[in-house]
Amino acid sequence: AQERYASIRNKPAETLCGHHIGLHMNAGLMADLPSLESSGAEGVGLFRTELQFLIRNHMPKRAELSELYSRVMDAAMGKRVVFRTLDIGSDKVLPYMKAVDEPNPALGWRAVRIGLDKPGVMRMQLQALVRAAAGRPLSVMFPFIAQREEYFAARDEMDKALERERILGHPLPESLEVGAMLETPSLAYASDSFYEAVDFLSIGGNDLKQFFFAADRENELVRKRYDTLNVSFLGFIEHIVDRCAATNTPLSFCGEDAGRPVEAACFAAIGLNSLSMRPASIGPVKSILRRTNLIELRNVIDKARDEGAQSVRPAVMDYLRGKL
Ligand code: PEP
Ligand code: MG
Repeated sequence: AQERYASIRNKPAETLCGHHIGLHMNAGLMADLPSLESSGAEGVGLFRTELQFLIRNHMPKRAELSELYSRVMDAAMGKRVVFRTLDIGSDKVLPYMKAVDEPNPALGWRAVRIGLDKPGVMRMQLQALVRAAAGRPLSVMFPFIAQREEYFAARDEMDKALERERILGHPLPESLEVGAMLETPSLAYASDSFYEAVDFLSIGGNDLKQFFFAADRENELVRKRYDTLNVSFLGFIEHIVDRCAATNTPLSFCGEDAGRPVEAACFAAIGLNSLSMRPASIGPVKSILRRTNLIELRNVIDKARDEGAQSVRPAVMDYLRGKL
């Protein structure tokens, strides 16, 4: 399938109306990095660092991690890599960490909540990232930020990691950007001060959709019931896009839906200009974007909404027919 899109691999993801959409890839292992070149992705929009923790039977050491992160940056050859800090808990349990018994793990002690309550591992990881990025730009994002203070507390840990490196006399990253994942509806309504403080936001659509519709992303009985192109969810994404536009906050979308051509085109039509997806989706998404006029598509979406549709999908499919 990758070959089918080879002819557009080095062409920009530019729409018929002249909008450029940044297409980035999701990764988690060293083995994913060659896809950066073969897919034509602009960078790694989401590097899931927990995969490295999940494939071992012991807690990795800081030196191992910093060596690994450094190799990831080497392999990216100057392209941006957004490292997401450890996102465990819920469905991702580390075999060597004591599991807590929770009635609702998806709503439980997970991701940055663990990182802030028991900061040992997060500190070690941040230190490893800072060390790996010596002399190079560093991008870090924290998963599952549900309220402003969690971002500020996590960012504080980042600052402390930098300060420790400075005191040790080690070279620091050339630049640093610290973002948050928007995966809970609460963050869509956080104060402007939050939107102004974050260096960037990335919508974790898998979790965001699960919490928006109160439908378990892992549960086949309910997962497919709610369409991503349901007017409620699309309007919600649009609200986030508008808030970011108002505060000049860079925004990206990195859930599975970003890699689905129809969804990706609709996201672009409502103003998202950066998407991160599995490498194999870059070609198909780029292909449809290059053949779509976002202004026309936006009108199709608005018309379906005005007419009271539950989902804009039928109208959009009708419009895109022939381009897919
Ligand atoms: C998401 O929730 O959309 C996301 C990108 O993170 P993960 O799938 O790893 O939870
Ligand atoms: Mg998530």
